[in-house]
Amino acid sequence: MPEAKYILVGSSHAALEALRSIRLHDPEGSMAMITRDAHLPYSPTVLPYVVSGRSKPEKVLLRDEDFFTANACTFVPNAVAAGLDAKTKTLKLANGDSWRYETLLIATGAAPAIPPVKGLDSVNYHVLRTLDDAKRLRSAMGGARSAVVLGAGLVGLHAAENLAEAGLSVSVVEMQDHVLPGYFDPKASETIESAFTSHGVKLFLKSKVVAVEARDGGHSCTVTLENGNTISADLLLVATGVRPVTDWLDGSGVKLDRGVLVDETMRTNVEGIWAAGDVAQALDFHTGKQALIGIIPTAVDQGRIAGMGMAGDSYVRAYPGGVPVNTYRFFGRVALSIGQAAATTAGYEIAVSEEGGYRRLVLSDNRLVGYASVDQPFDVGVMGELIRRKVDLTECKDAFMARPVETGRRLMSEQWR
Ligand SMILES: Cc1cc2nc3c(=O)[nH]c(=O)nc-3n(C[C@H](O)[C@H](O)[C@H](O)COP(=O)(O)OP(=O)(O)OC[C@H]3O[C@@H](n4cnc5c(N)ncnc54)[C@H](O)[C@@H]3O)c2cc1C
Repeated sequence: MPEAKYILVGSSHAALEALRSIRLHDPEGSMAMITRDAHLPYSPTVLPYVVSGRSKPEKVLLRDEDFFTANACTFVPNAVAAGLDAKTKTLKLANGDSWRYETLLIATGAAPAIPPVKGLDSVNYHVLRTLDDAKRLRSAMGGARSAVVLGAGLVGLHAAENLAEAGLSVSVVEMQDHVLPGYFDPKASETIESAFTSHGVKLFLKSKVVAVEARDGGHSCTVTLENGNTISADLLLVATGVRPVTDWLDGSGVKLDRGVLVDETMRTNVEGIWAAGDVAQALDFHTGKQALIGIIPTAVDQGRIAGMGMAGDSYVRAYPGGVPVNTYRFFGRVALSIGQAAATTAGYEIAVSEEGGYRRLVLSDNRLVGYASVDQPFDVGVMGELIRRKVDLTECKDAFMARPVETGRRLMSEQWR
């Protein structure tokens, strides 16, 4: 049976960062990266551009084979983790192979969550999480003139924009009142919504899909909304959220809730096993509880900490908790959402400005807890640090409210000095 000191299950942001931090501490320990993907690592964020044709699939890879050779890591693609025996420290693959490990990282990320809609199974619907999903969707676009996207979260909107730019007539159906719920308050969302509608994308908000009916042997479909209206399209993309990939851990003894539960150094409850990224349910900076925060900065931070722990690096520090950060680009414009940007919590102080774009500051106890902007200059690093360090703004609150970026930069340069 092949064995490795370090086994990384998954080949995306969290696993790559773990690899990096392991190699900083241990240049030689045997290592394998095991992934169900057929390709070398890539970022899911490029997939909408593969769909539109702006990026070529072969150009989106984050690492090449030489990288794995240089880092003495065996890259094992097309290998689906199917089970884990923690007693014998054995990872079992769906093809019957097994690997013995000393330490193991669970970095299997998240996969699309499919809603239980009547008739959906009869349609050749699409999802967008892997390069093969993107290639499949791109090739289906060949003969298509229209698309319907279920879900107006980040994945749904990125895809809708790229489908529209590729010339399709696009409809987006969202159950909530606004697009990007959770990231932006209604006013900011409305600005984003008007960009979509002015580019010809039809938005069906506060709309629930109750049935899908196949046409042309399942290639096209008609979607029925709760109010009885119907939308017909040649393509259906389901982007209604994601779910951590934990099915292969059943019976392993690794403690699961919505994702894999980890402590402040990304350790699971099972000795020798860590978890990081979209699969991990780790500390949430704002609530102090364990939560799923499916974004790249979180996957990278957690991957680094897990890798340090796996390699026995004594400089490992506790994870301070994830702060949601999203820089959202749409139709050549940009919006930013950090922390509790959409919060309406009682007791929070909220300041909105619509001068030269939109900006929303959310403060609690004179400290920044959330920041959103659309079409305004911003500084993700500084705003994020003000939130993470809970900087007291009492002395300069008026200046901060009037000029947050400049005031924030000045404050941080004083703190960093
Ligand atoms: C279209 C799109 C746009 C996005 N845009 C943004 C954005 O703008 N900003 C942002 O911060 N985040 C964005 N995200 C989210 C971001 O991509 C994820 O947070 C990030 O990729 C998480 O990395 P990860 O390493 O935890 O897992 P993932 O990227 O989910 O990768 C999981 C890895 O595990 C492997 N795997 C899964 N199951 C198994 C198994 N059973 N056996 C073996 N291998 C397995 C997969 O093949 C993959 O290599 C976007 C995601 C999508 C899909």
